[in-house]
Amino acid sequence: MLITEDLLLHYKRCPRRAFLDIYNDPNSKDRDQDFLLKLRQDSLAHRQSILALTTVQRPYYPSRDWQAGANATLELMQQGVEQITKGVLMLSLSDDLAVPSFNSLSYNHGNDLPLVTSGSPIAVTLVAYPDLLTKHPGKSDFGDWIYVPTTIKLGRRPKPEYQIVAALQAQLLAATQGVWSETAQLILRNQDSYSVKLERWVPQMQTVLKNCIETLLASPAPEVFISRHRCSLCHWYSDCYAQAQAQQHLSLLPGVTPSRYQDLQMLNLTTPESLANASPAQLETVFDGELTTQLIRQAQAVVQNRAILKTDSPTSGALTIPSALVELYFDIEAEPERHLDYLLGVLVVEREAERERFYPFLAEQPFEEAAIWQQFLELVARYPDAPIFHYSDYEVDTVKRLAKLYETPRSSVKSLLSRFVDVHQCVMGTVTFPVESYSLKHLAHWLGFEWRDAGASGAQCVWWYDQWLRTGDRTLLEAILRYNEDDCRATYRLKTWLCEFLQAAATNCN
Ligand code: SF4
Repeated sequence: MLITEDLLLHYKRCPRRAFLDIYNDPNSKDRDQDFLLKLRQDSLAHRQSILALTTVQRPYYPSRDWQAGANATLELMQQGVEQITKGVLMLSLSDDLAVPSFNSLSYNHGNDLPLVTSGSPIAVTLVAYPDLLTKHPGKSDFGDWIYVPTTIKLGRRPKPEYQIVAALQAQLLAATQGVWSETAQLILRNQDSYSVKLERWVPQMQTVLKNCIETLLASPAPEVFISRHRCSLCHWYSDCYAQAQAQQHLSLLPGVTPSRYQDLQMLNLTTPESLANASPAQLETVFDGELTTQLIRQAQAVVQNRAILKTDSPTSGALTIPSALVELYFDIEAEPERHLDYLLGVLVVEREAERERFYPFLAEQPFEEAAIWQQFLELVARYPDAPIFHYSDYEVDTVKRLAKLYETPRSSVKSLLSRFVDVHQCVMGTVTFPVESYSLKHLAHWLGFEWRDAGASGAQCVWWYDQWLRTGDRTLLEAILRYNEDDCRATYRLKTWLCEFLQAAATNCN
């Protein structure tokens, strides 16, 4: 069995993914999403920009022929090449998965770092491919020099999975050169360099590796658990989501995290029905009162397919959401890689005149961001009493960012922000919906609202804008404008529904 550093990284994020990557039919994978392709392009460009700063030599070998790559890399290391890129490190574990005596290697912190054995009869080969192997003074099997591995990642933080990969590289390198490097390096976004503490991360990597091997040798696949953040870019999403739906898996209920799921399993509450019918006293042995209420009510909303009022006082709920003769609905499209907010879309709703007009302030080129910010300010100044509805806190954060960047007077920004109303917060404080997530898309879908382009999303717009800049294809800009307008209209629809729902509930109370 071949365990590459990528497989281990995926295992760290989701054991099921590593399992499916090995055993599932590759033809049943989802097509890579455009946004993922963009992330890969950005990651490659980041790597190339860093490697361009230094003189590197690379071993030559047929693509994915790891053994040939390891041999060619070893040759360069033996020659004492200063910097090696695209090198391969490889280690075959013996049949019982025991690593060849690492005890004999002098680890600089004196730690004994044997890999745990699983007693499996299957041979396992580990493969790592550090972005750089850099020569340093020291003593190794090669002579008076040793190598230190470097991994280049686009992330901003030294995430645990990055450090696990760096520790794997360090261990395979130690087996290759006969001595541990002092550290392993991570180069992150903005070229921040970070030293991985091997005394901490090598033992953790070994535990993860042991668990990974055990998972891959066991059957069946690890249980599905849908987590929007983790699963949204995974190529097994359709497969897993279909399975979760068929099982009515609790991970499809908002608020059920992996650790809460374990607690619910211990209470033998494994379906939305059982949770909906559970007594609060049963859950309160594990969760606090508020969370208990929230979980049971969420399950009831889904099982009964109806929205449930959260508050005992719908009148006060209704009062927190302003209504006015003129209302503005605001949504932004951004390109995070360029630190750019390129579309400020505003739907102006004039109730008395029964008129709706959408204003898309669009930076066709990145340098136009300042201009669209001014145009946006001029529009909202035309309606000084109109509340500005948006969904989630991104719009508030962005207004603060743009105001600071383009030196908008503080008093104007303060007064502008005082008109902002976050519809997401209004929802969360008042109503439980029968949805899988409280994203605008899920809520508006439940209300029957449809986006004109079924495949459109914020992430897709990032790709479309990037492609517009590269190709000049205006149909991409038009698709972004449609999506942004639909987001504004979905927010309008949701806000209207929420006000009516709370009003009806308040009337029934009186
Ligand atoms: S879709 Fe989610 S649960 Fe399924 S393999 Fe991917 S990350 Fe894991």
